[in-house]
Amino acid sequence: MAIVVQKFGGTSLADVEKIKNVARAVVREKELGNDVVVVVSAMGHTTDNLIKLAHEISKNPSAREMDMLMSTGEQISISLLAIAIQEMGYRAVSMTGAQVGIYTEDTHSKARIVDIKTEKLMSHIKEGEIVIVAGFQGITKEGEITTLGRGGSDTSAVAIAAKLQVENLGIERCDIYSDVEGIYTTDPRVVPTAKKLKEISYEEMLELARVGANVLHPRSVETAKQFQVPMRLRSSFKLDDLGTLVIGVEKMEIYKPVTGLACDKSQVRVVICDIPDRPGNASKLFTLLAKYELSVDMIIQSYARSSNNTNDIAFTIDKDDLQKFMTLKDEITSIMNPSNIHIDEDIAKISIVGAGMIDRPGIAAQMFETLAKEGINIKMISTSEIKISCLVEKMHAKQATEALCKAFELDGKDVALVHGTLPD
Ligand code: ASP
Ligand code: MG
Repeated sequence: MAIVVQKFGGTSLADVEKIKNVARAVVREKELGNDVVVVVSAMGHTTDNLIKLAHEISKNPSAREMDMLMSTGEQISISLLAIAIQEMGYRAVSMTGAQVGIYTEDTHSKARIVDIKTEKLMSHIKEGEIVIVAGFQGITKEGEITTLGRGGSDTSAVAIAAKLQVENLGIERCDIYSDVEGIYTTDPRVVPTAKKLKEISYEEMLELARVGANVLHPRSVETAKQFQVPMRLRSSFKLDDLGTLVIGVEKMEIYKPVTGLACDKSQVRVVICDIPDRPGNASKLFTLLAKYELSVDMIIQSYARSSNNTNDIAFTIDKDDLQKFMTLKDEITSIMNPSNIHIDEDIAKISIVGAGMIDRPGIAAQMFETLAKEGINIKMISTSEIKISCLVEKMHAKQATEALCKAFELDGKDVALVHGTLPD
């Protein structure tokens, strides 16, 4: 029998009725003749609430205890879902990450999976049981509980599917269920006429996930791409709808230069001003940031000013990492002696993404012209092969999104209005 991995997010499991609904979706897949491995997130806003509790006690709770705390959310979901499935007359067993053997690096709060054991999982499957695995969590070699970073259950699901594929255990695909019906050209809450895509490539999905499309955990797409695991994004409330298929770019027909647009308001811009223009400074700066696990994006170095032989380096970081960055400010100042370190929180990053923009000139010009016509100033630009991102002021985010959707035909009057929120 083929194995299907199904992943259900927090909104699909928010209350008892929804858990029963998920149980029906699982049983339905089993009835189609597949073996099923289910991966779940914590119910509703459980993870947020747990974090809030910890912060009511401490401003800076230790990462180890936060992982211990946050991993409990998924443990509630696995057991309740197993009970719901058993209540329907089917055999189900819940497993924590440690019970399965989901091994991670030895870092708390954003650990990467290094290996997944399949023996115990498969022995339950062979018994005809539906296996329900706690997403988002793993264990280190030393037996410490870790978590994979917010939204990490997607990655747990795809990593399990990938490992089953590597071991030739008959994986069919990985279905990621949430309360939206697939991937849209842009956030349907901002542009209600956004279109649902039938398919999207891993590459495009990766860019959209990274730039804050808030649909999938980026590492889940990376893993799916690396192991070529077919992935479907679909709704747990519309089981007949096949949603959006995420596949390799070579399998797609590309007919438009831009597939999607994402707006990310969760970054801040840092400008390190007037750094002496000599070899090694950028290296020192980014080595220091890497040492403290600060991911940076949109790095730009200005043209050296000949008057004092200095230049500026600007980059963006996650808003959540700002506090950590502030603790490094003094160290940066003592290493490179900048005239100022400027922080700008009033930014939104608007990105257009499309595998079809490769070898097609004029897309950047069209994006900048569209923003110019709206009178929107661009604060920073960065590009990749299939993405162009512009930083704008936060108050212009919606206007920029709407104008660019029109310019690149990402909206359409023929498309039904989409209800619901984006997945957690
Ligand atoms: N429960 C975790 C979170 O809220 C993991 C997940 O939902 O994927 O981030
Ligand atoms: Mg999620």
